[in-house]
Order: sequence, then structure tokens, then C-alpha cells
Amino acid sequence: MSDINSQGKNCQPDFHSISMEECLSLPFPLSQDKREGDFQVVIKQSALNNIKKHGMQNKSIEVCGVLVGRLCKDDMGAFLYIESSIPGEYATHKATQVTFTAETWTYISNQMEKEYPDKKIVGWYHTHPGFGVFLSEMDMFIHRHFFNLPWQVAFVYDPCSQEQGMFLWIQGKAIASTIQLEEDMPEEKIRISLENLDFKSDSRQLDKRILKLEKRTRKMLYIFGILMMLVVGWLSAMTYQMLEMQKKIMIETKQEKPLQDIKEQSTEEKKQTIVKEQGK
Ligand SMILES: [Zn+2]
Repeated sequence: MSDINSQGKNCQPDFHSISMEECLSLPFPLSQDKREGDFQVVIKQSALNNIKKHGMQNKSIEVCGVLVGRLCKDDMGAFLYIESSIPGEYATHKATQVTFTAETWTYISNQMEKEYPDKKIVGWYHTHPGFGVFLSEMDMFIHRHFFNLPWQVAFVYDPCSQEQGMFLWIQGKAIASTIQLEEDMPEEKIRISLENLDFKSDSRQLDKRILKLEKRTRKMLYIFGILMMLVVGWLSAMTYQMLEMQKKIMIETKQEKPLQDIKEQSTEEKKQTIVKEQGK
């Protein structure tokens, strides 16, 4: 498959082929000791905070957006300066896939016109909740088709593990690279997740689950109670029956004993009369 960038050139995107004419002259935003000779990516902490905040809002699906900034140059060459981001509203989200829809692009271009008329879309970001940092086949499809300029980058963030990675174009391949932070504001940490909607919906779901469990426990206790009552009833009925039988047996044995006595007596009497008669 051939790659065609916005300039209509058939090429394999590579940051080494960035045209200096395209770059805006700007002093490197960080101290000079952080400036290396090669193409560097600098991101503002505020932009990174927004991306992470977006990712933390829903840790069960992927979210996406675009990176906004400027392609710059100084004495040492070109560098990419990421200053902001636009969340990919109206994008379709699945657990392991994200898609920019036509509505997403309309929203992004409106935001670019309104908020960032002097800036460019310098790349895109998306999240991989819980499955690490890499670019899948589908991610590469998006990267090749929508962000194929030599200086455009892909940023992947895992809101579960807090891993992150920036990918740069080298010979048509997206290669992971280091990024440098401009600390324009402090880093926002995990507390973001405690304030967001996802946490609230999670706690609501937990409440629902607890209620369900309580209902189930009550039902089980009710059934158990009925069963216990049946068992106790059956046992007492059985005991009553046994006692009754015992009574009957006792009465019968009592009735049988005097009869036997009479019988024994009568044989005794018979014997005595026989002896008397013999004596006569
Ligand atoms: Zn992905």
C-alpha cells in the first residue's frame, strides 16, 4: 500500500525528510542542555494532563483526540511543540478500538478554527485501557490515512498502568520515541479519577450490586426460615407419633399381662382341684 501525504507526494513518511521551510522559527521551549541534534517532541504538561484526564474518564473503553501545536525550528533543526489537544467527540468507542467519525472531524476542524487558528494538528492520541502501549493494525491504518505527514506523531496512553508512548515516523514505520515535558503547570495525578464520572457510575453500579445482593440474601433467609419451620414441624409430628405409638404399646402390654395371670391362675387352680380330687 502506498502512502500519500497531504502534499500529494507518494512516500514513506519519515521525520528526517521534514522541510525546514515548513517550520516556524521559535526558541527551544526548554533549557538548551535538553536540546539534542535530532527531531525532538516537546509536550506541555497542561496538554498531557488534559489527555490523561480524558483517558481516566472512562477506563473501560478507548478514547481518542488530536494533538495541537506547531512545527518549529531553531539553530539545531526541527522540533515538534505540542501545546494542546482536542478530544475526539462523536468518535465511536469500543473496548479495544477507536474510530474517528465524520462528526469527529467536523468537531475537530471547528475547534481548530475557533480556538487554535495559528496552530496545526500535529498528531493524535488514544488510550489503551489495561493493554499496554503499542500501535495495533487498526491504529496504523488511522495513522497512515489521517496523520501521515513526516512530523505527525501518535501518542498512546494506558490509563490503568499509566504507561505512555510517543511514536514518530521513520521510513514509513511508527517508532517509539522519548518526549520532553515543558512544565507549564503541575502534573495532575490519580485524584482526577476520583472526581470523574466513571468513578461515580462505578460507585452507582456498586450500590446497585449491593442492593441486589441484599435482596437475594433476604430471599435466601426467608426460604431458609420456611424450610427450618417445615423441618421443626415434621420433627415434632414424628415425635408425637412415636410417643403415641409407645403409649399404645404400653397399654397393650399392660392389658396382656393380667390375662396371662388369669390363664396362669386358672391352670394353677386346675392343678389344685386335680390334687384335691386325687386326695379324696
Ligand atoms: Zn490502539
